[in-house]
Amino acid sequence: MTGVTITTSCCVVGGGPAGMMLGVLLARAGVETVVLEKHADFLRDFRGDTIHPSTLEMLAELGWIEDFLRLPHQEIRNVGVDVCGVHVPVADFSHLPVRCRFVALMPQWDFLDFLAGWGATFPSFQLRRRSEATGLIIEGDQVVGVQAQEPGRTLTVRSRLVVATDGRHSRMRAAAGLTVQDLGAPIDVLWMRLPRLPSDPEAVLGNVRAGHLLVLISRGDYWQCAYVIPKDGYGAVRQAGLDAFRHAVAETAPMLAGRTDALKSWDDVKVLTVKVDRLEQWCRPGLLCIGDAVHAMSPIGGVGINLAIQDAVAAGRILAPSLRRGEAPDLATLRRVQRRRGWPTRATQRLQVLAQNRIIGPVLAGSGDGALPVPLRMLQRFPALRRVPARVLGLGFRPEHTGPHP
Ligand SMILES: Cc1cc2nc3c(=O)[nH]c(=O)nc-3n(C[C@H](O)[C@H](O)[C@H](O)COP(=O)(O)OP(=O)(O)OC[C@H]3O[C@@H](n4cnc5c(N)ncnc54)[C@H](O)[C@@H]3O)c2cc1C
Repeated sequence: MTGVTITTSCCVVGGGPAGMMLGVLLARAGVETVVLEKHADFLRDFRGDTIHPSTLEMLAELGWIEDFLRLPHQEIRNVGVDVCGVHVPVADFSHLPVRCRFVALMPQWDFLDFLAGWGATFPSFQLRRRSEATGLIIEGDQVVGVQAQEPGRTLTVRSRLVVATDGRHSRMRAAAGLTVQDLGAPIDVLWMRLPRLPSDPEAVLGNVRAGHLLVLISRGDYWQCAYVIPKDGYGAVRQAGLDAFRHAVAETAPMLAGRTDALKSWDDVKVLTVKVDRLEQWCRPGLLCIGDAVHAMSPIGGVGINLAIQDAVAAGRILAPSLRRGEAPDLATLRRVQRRRGWPTRATQRLQVLAQNRIIGPVLAGSGDGALPVPLRMLQRFPALRRVPARVLGLGFRPEHTGPHP
């Protein structure tokens, strides 16, 4: 097996939303950047396909939004919930102070290919596919590069900075010895597709019946469905049989009755083990973690991609000046990224844990008398209140901006 060594300013490990966005933004700022992605392509199903208004606004700031909107996508302008047959509109994005007042739904691989396309326009951007980081190179206390495996050869990347964007099972953060705080998640999610009719609403719809919660996301000719189950409950669901599962789905969302036969076998059902965790320290000398590598998010609100991208934008803005000067960002600079993004992360996770424990937990336990909870009654009665969840879901806490071209 041969070995290759390259040097660069910044080595980004992981070509997901955080890594690709950071790689492209640094390269746009003139920083030589290498992104290592272990897969040959971005084709992975059900990875989260939501592009939020804050991300769309950023694409507009970059001047890329027209190109983006030419790609096939759906536009979601409302989120609602159906509690035992009573419909409650929850979020209305039409008042957000941004250019695109909707959530765009686009397969994640199309979005990542789109970023890779922009990256390729910058001479200082390099995306290495089928390049799997296996460890960090550490000299003294300083991370100075990455060891990786490519087909038929080992790769050594020496860099001023390594950014770990390798997702919620991050190998780089483990190699760095950073401590993870597990916030707990009492739920798991079963993902599946069911047919959508042209007469169905174009929206995100939560369906709640005692003991059951099913979220439907309209995706053109199909519904992307997230069926929420108690933690580690998949075995029991399977044991009850596919027919019982189809029946439970149709009972929770009566609109889908007659369509659940589309689930031919358990192969049509994908399990997401929900985790909510975060790192106490996001960095050590020479290494920064962002995105899911720092904070695995609950699927509640579908904000994981948005947060990962916001981290990348903040990191790009804070790190680019020293990297462009040819210097390794010092620990104080790396900590500025955590200071900037730590609060939005904690606030979002706090809301998710609250929703998990106070709303979803009791629903799955079958408790509650079926009456609408007070916040939902208020949203039903006062339409202006729907702007609040729209803002939290659509823009998040402390939205980032790319600023003018450096
Ligand atoms: C089933 C599912 C559904 C979801 N639905 C939503 C949703 O609707 N909306 C939403 O906002 N979020 C959703 N999420 C969460 C969202 O996908 C993540 O929050 C987001 O992708 C995080 O981006 P990231 O770039 O930090 O990490 P990831 O997207 O996990 O990207 C990490 C990348 O690193 C690569 N990698 C890993 N290890 C290595 C290595 N050693 N060397 C090189 N490359 C490596 C991986 O191949 C991957 O491409 C969902 C997640 C799952 C699993």
